[in-house]
Amino acid sequence: MIILGDDSQRVKDRDAQAYNIRAARAVADAVRSTLGPKGMDKMLVDSMGDVTITNDGVTILKEMDIDNPTAEMIVEVAETQEDEAGDGTTTAVAIAGELLKNAEDLLEQDIHPTAIIKGFHLASEHARAEIDDIAERVDPEDEELLKKVAETSMTGKGAELNKELLAELIVGAVQQVTVEADDGSYVVDLENVNIETQTGRSAGESELLTGAVIDKDPVHEDMPLEFDDANVLLINEAIEIEEADVDTQVNIDSPDQLQKFLDREESQLKEKVDQIEATGANVVFCQKGIDDMAQHYLAKKGILAVRRVKKSDIKFLKNVLGGSIVSDLDSATEADLGHGSVRRDDEDELFYVEGPDAHGVTLLLRGSTDHVVDELERGINDALDVVTSTVTDGRVVAGGGAIEVELASRLRDYADSVEGREQLAVEAFADALELVPRVLAENAGLDAIDTLVDLRAAHEEGQVRAGLNVFSGDVVDTFDAGVVEPAHSKEQALSSATEAANLVLKIDDIIAAGDLSTDKGDDEEGGAGGMGGMGGMGGMGGAM
Ligand code: ADP
Ligand code: MG
Repeated sequence: MIILGDDSQRVKDRDAQAYNIRAARAVADAVRSTLGPKGMDKMLVDSMGDVTITNDGVTILKEMDIDNPTAEMIVEVAETQEDEAGDGTTTAVAIAGELLKNAEDLLEQDIHPTAIIKGFHLASEHARAEIDDIAERVDPEDEELLKKVAETSMTGKGAELNKELLAELIVGAVQQVTVEADDGSYVVDLENVNIETQTGRSAGESELLTGAVIDKDPVHEDMPLEFDDANVLLINEAIEIEEADVDTQVNIDSPDQLQKFLDREESQLKEKVDQIEATGANVVFCQKGIDDMAQHYLAKKGILAVRRVKKSDIKFLKNVLGGSIVSDLDSATEADLGHGSVRRDDEDELFYVEGPDAHGVTLLLRGSTDHVVDELERGINDALDVVTSTVTDGRVVAGGGAIEVELASRLRDYADSVEGREQLAVEAFADALELVPRVLAENAGLDAIDTLVDLRAAHEEGQVRAGLNVFSGDVVDTFDAGVVEPAHSKEQALSSATEAANLVLKIDDIIAAGDLSTDKGDDEEGGAGGMGGMGGMGGMGGAM
C-alpha cells in the first residue's frame, strides 16, 4: 500500500539517527571555535548584505539561515539557554553536539536508543544535583565578586578591552534596580535598566546614568531645553492631521474655499496643541510624527517636543517619570503627566531625563562604529543577566572548565552505581562534559589532551576549582583567578543540552513531505546518503 506522495522521502532507524546526529553536530561544530576568551568571532552576512560580527552563540545560530529541522532543534537549545540564563549558549550547544557524537558510538555498539536516553537523563539529573553541591554561596551584595562574574561573561567579547569599567557599570546598574524582599531574597528588575548606544566615541567613555537618555533633537529650534520641573506628556499617537482628512478628496474651485480648507487644518492642529497645553505639560515625547504647524505652535507656547522616540524608550520614560502613555489627546488630562527633570547635552545631542525617585537607570554604551557597539551591547546584555542571576540565586561556580571536569569525575563515580547499559551512557555523558575544557584549550592553541590529563589529575587530588588559565596554559584555581560563573547558567546548559540530544535520539523515522536534500536532481537513493546538501547546512559550511 502506498500512502506517501511521490515527492516525499522516508528515512528509517539507524539511517534516520545518523542523519539527525550529523545535522545536529554540524550546528554544534559551527559555534565551537567561538568558545572561551580565546574564541574567534564570526562574520555573518545576511541576504540583504547586512554584516554582523559576533562571538555570541545564539546570535550566530539565529542569523545563520538554517533550514534543516534537526539542526533547528539545536538552535532552540541556544535560544532556551539565552532566555533562561542569558549566557552559556555556546556551551549548551557544544555539549548537545558532543552528547550526540558519543551517543552515535554507543548506537554503533548496538546499544538501544532507549538505554542511551535513560542514561543521559540520569546523568543530567545527577550532574545538576552535584552542581548545587559544588557551587559556592556568595553574598549577593559582594561587589567585587559580581564584577568578576560580569568580567568572565564579557571575556572574549567586544566588551573585553574595557571590561573593568563595563563590569563596574553593569554591577552598578543591577544594584540600583535590586530590592531586598521581606523574606531576605533579592529581586532584580531589569526592566528598569535601559541600554542606549551611541557611536563615535570609545567604549571606555561609556556611562551609567540615572533616569533615561533620549538620543533625539527637539523638533523646533526655538524650544526651551532645560526643565527642573518637567511635566511630561508621553504620547504614542502622531500630532498631525487625522488620517481620514488627508485621504478625503476636496473639490476646491475658489481661492476662498482653499483658504477655508487650510484654516480648518490649522485650527485642528491648534486644538491638539491647546489640548496638550491644557494638561499642564511643558515637555512632550511623541512616539510618532509631529506636524510642522504643530511644532511651531508648541514652540510658541514654550513647550519642548521630541518626535519619533522609540517605543521602548517611551515605555522606559514611563517607568522613570510615572504617569501614563496617552494614545488619544482628546482624553489626556493632568493625571497622565509624568514628573521629573530634563537636561540637554548639546555636545552629545542627548536629553537626560530623571524622575523624582531615581527610578530606572540607563547604560549609555559608546563605541567607534555600529559593529563595535552592537557586539558590545550583546556582551553587556549577557553580563547583566549573569550578574542578575548571581544576585537572585546566590550560587556561583569556578569556570575555565573547572566545573565540567569536576562533574565528569563525579559522574564516573556515579556510573558505577548505575545498572545495565545505562551505565555506558552515563560515562558517555561525563566524557561529553569534558568537551568544554578541551575546546577552551584548542581555541587557545594549547594541547587539548595534555590539558585534560592535567585537569583530571588536579581534580583527583581534590582540587574542585582547578580549571584552565587559557593565557598561560596552566591549571589554576580559576575561582581565585576571577573566572566565576553563575551555577544556574551551568544547570540550565546541562538540562537543555540533554533534552535536545534525547529528542533527536528518540527519532527513528523521518517522513518528509518533500526532498530531504536540497540537491534536487541528485540521483542518490533515500537513506542518509540522500542528504547530500543537508538542507541549509550545506550552505552553512560554505559561510563558516
Ligand atoms: P558561552 O556562549 O557558552 O558563554 P563563551 O565564549 O562566553 O561561551 O565562553 C564561556 C567559557 O569560557 C566558560 O566555560 C568560561 O568559564 C570560560 N572562560 C571565560 N573567561 C575565562 C578565562 N579568563 N579563563 C578561562 N576560561 C574562561
Ligand atoms: Mg559567555
